[in-house]
Amino acid sequence: MHELSIATSILETVEAEAAKRPGSRFVKLGLRIGELAGIDPDALTFGWEALTRDTEFANLALAIEGTPWKNRCPVCASEFVVKDYQSQCPACGEANTRCIGGEELDIAYIEVDEP
Ligand SMILES: [Zn+2]
Repeated sequence: MHELSIATSILETVEAEAAKRPGSRFVKLGLRIGELAGIDPDALTFGWEALTRDTEFANLALAIEGTPWKNRCPVCASEFVVKDYQSQCPACGEANTRCIGGEELDIAYIEVDEP
């Protein structure tokens, strides 16, 4: 399962953060997942729960925020959200635009309960 390997790498990042902040308890993990990343948020949450069940992060909840597919036009430099696979520039009509967002998988924030 693809999402399980992603959950594993997220856990590694969280463990590294926890090592830097001894004594603090992580309560919420904000993730930003692009529409094009091909990640199922439910499967990722499921994988995360399975992975952390017996760890100190068992109560660390995931807050997943989806981000839209965005393109930039090389002709007029406008940036726009792509809907229904319509990647043509809405400003000047250029057909050949470039993807600049929607493939990301980022940790947006970690909410910490300070002791
Ligand atoms: Zn344009």
